[in-house]
Amino acid sequence: MQTRIIDGNAIARELRAGLIRRVAALAAMGVRPGLAVLQVGNHPASKIYVRNKMKACGEVGLYSEHIELPADADEWTLLERIRTLNRDSRIHGILVQLPLPTGLSAERVLDALAPAKDVDGFHPINMGLLAAGSPRFVPCTPLGVMKLIEHEEIGVQGRHAVVVGRSNIVGKPMALLLLQKGATVTICNSRTPDLGAMTSQADILVVAAGRPRLVTAGMVKPGAVVIDVGINRLADGKLAGDVDFQSMLGTASRITPVPGGVGPMTIAMLLENTVMSAERASASGGSS
Ligand code: NDP
Repeated sequence: MQTRIIDGNAIARELRAGLIRRVAALAAMGVRPGLAVLQVGNHPASKIYVRNKMKACGEVGLYSEHIELPADADEWTLLERIRTLNRDSRIHGILVQLPLPTGLSAERVLDALAPAKDVDGFHPINMGLLAAGSPRFVPCTPLGVMKLIEHEEIGVQGRHAVVVGRSNIVGKPMALLLLQKGATVTICNSRTPDLGAMTSQADILVVAAGRPRLVTAGMVKPGAVVIDVGINRLADGKLAGDVDFQSMLGTASRITPVPGGVGPMTIAMLLENTVMSAERASASGGSS
């Protein structure tokens, strides 16, 4: 079987072109979508992620602010910054770069975000709306995966989707989205006794475990669609996904590479959620 490699970079580029048109339409009404990214401390990976997000904002014409606080910042200071951004009419999306340094409660910090500006979709109200089937903001990575699936015209209804990972950021919302599209969904976690027995039942397999090359070709059904969310830095400095990409060629019908699969879609969805938030604010007369 010929395995088709899903080009996340190309699909993200297409989606960004659509966003540029929406940003221009907002500009004609005097609105410029704005994103604030709050970073606490100097986590090296976070620095790269934040830099990529700010660059992407510039490329589609968004206003962006990068707010850096020292690793020893106290929670009160961080919460005050969030409250100020909640009131700032130039800002339509607020993102708190995770993980936070130890001692800061991610739960309290995310709770402080105005749900209408929570473009990451991690606020409990937004997670609840997603679970109820009427989402306001969908977390960017699972939303990006759904856009890839849609773009590739992969049918979801009636298929068996297996999600490896149950984090609030990827696994859980991913499973909810697939469920809402009519898939039968199995969610695996680190305690799943025989992972291969589960993954080999999947028509659509989404892997978000943070374990390099955890899933190999012997663990998937021939013809399955394999979406690799994992981003792992190996000892030699190279990036690897959670799926053993090479071994899948000839077994999977389609697969996302790492890098160049889900990663670029995540950033595109952050931009999309920020533009959508600005459109909503503008439709409601400026208050978001
Ligand atoms: P977490 O560490 O929060 O969650 C990992 C999940 O995988 C947990 O639910 C864990 O189970 C499960 N898991 C770990 N090992 C196994 C195993 N051997 N078998 C089955 N399940 C397992 O990670 P995230 O969800 O935040 O991220 C997952 C991966 O996706 C990471 O590599 C991350 O870098 C990447 N990522 C990529 C993004 C992108 O844009 N492409 C964006 C966000 C994340 P348990 O709950 O039992 O511990």
